[in-house]
Amino acid sequence: VKSNGRNGFQEFSDTVEKENIANILIEEEMRKALDEDQYVLHFQPKMDLRNQAVAGVEALIRWEHPDRGLIMPGEFIPIAEQSELIVDIGRWTIRECCRQYQEWVRTTGMELPISVNISSKQFLHHDFIEQILTELERNSMPPHHLDIEITETLAIENKEVTQTKIESLKDYGITISMDDFGTGYTSLSYLSMFSIDRLKIDRTFIQGMVHDSSHAVIVDSIVSVARHLDMVVTAEGVETNQQLEFVKNCDCDEAQGYLFGAAIPADHVADHLLDRLYQ
Ligand code: C2E
Ligand code: CA
Ligand code: CA
Ligand code: CA
Repeated sequence: VKSNGRNGFQEFSDTVEKENIANILIEEEMRKALDEDQYVLHFQPKMDLRNQAVAGVEALIRWEHPDRGLIMPGEFIPIAEQSELIVDIGRWTIRECCRQYQEWVRTTGMELPISVNISSKQFLHHDFIEQILTELERNSMPPHHLDIEITETLAIENKEVTQTKIESLKDYGITISMDDFGTGYTSLSYLSMFSIDRLKIDRTFIQGMVHDSSHAVIVDSIVSVARHLDMVVTAEGVETNQQLEFVKNCDCDEAQGYLFGAAIPADHVADHLLDRLYQ
């Protein structure tokens, strides 16, 4: 029995070791990808439900791997988040967003607000705000056209720092969204602690609403609390007209999802969105 146990453990630790080695290799590749410019941003429209116009876009990272093709963020961001690499990838993302904003202005005249996803380590890093200000300035991007998406877990686990950083970002005119809302352990009562501009309701609730009335009740209460706190509400993952009707009935302000369009490369954005832009 004992030796079996030891074998079992040995096997377990071999697996862990293999995983660690695999992660170290991927990490090395991800770092190289940064040097070799293999990351790209795609952009998904966010619709204003009052006028069916494009209110902005969300930047979503992809890795154009030379051998493996396009790799989605779910496959590499969580690994990058285990080390400081996410700080460097995050820096690249902000730089690229601001550069892209400026390029769209220059080539099409379009002044398109951009939302960018921020990981905890990146948000908590001491030059996070300074870097954003530098990139905004360098690209003459108005701060109110940049929106920062953070998660409730980040906010709750680092209450004081988050409050301070949000205040300071807002003083510069940058807006803040709380992403994937409803999936973390934040109760609605926590919300008033942070001066958040927007709540993005996670797609599991939006997609569940049609079949499960408890989801509809949750969305309704999120919207009414958000109204009280003067926050804009965005419904994520709207794929069908029925879901769209539901989120409109619940009085959501904005919606995002495949019904309006998936994330597309930067050079398709003007063709697809310019005539639907409301400014
Ligand atoms: P997220 O911020 O919640 O982004 C929404 C994800 O849902 C995106 O997946 C988007 O393509 C997908 N999506 C949009 N509409 C629909 C829909 O109607 N139905 C369904 N089923 N999915 C929809 P993506 O691009 O694979 O990104 C996954 C996650 O990776 C993001 O989730 C975000 O947490 C993270 N991520 C993406 N880009 C970045 C980045 O630049 N930095 C960081 N730190 N994280 C990023
Ligand atoms: Ca997001
Ligand atoms: Ca203030
Ligand atoms: Ca989300």
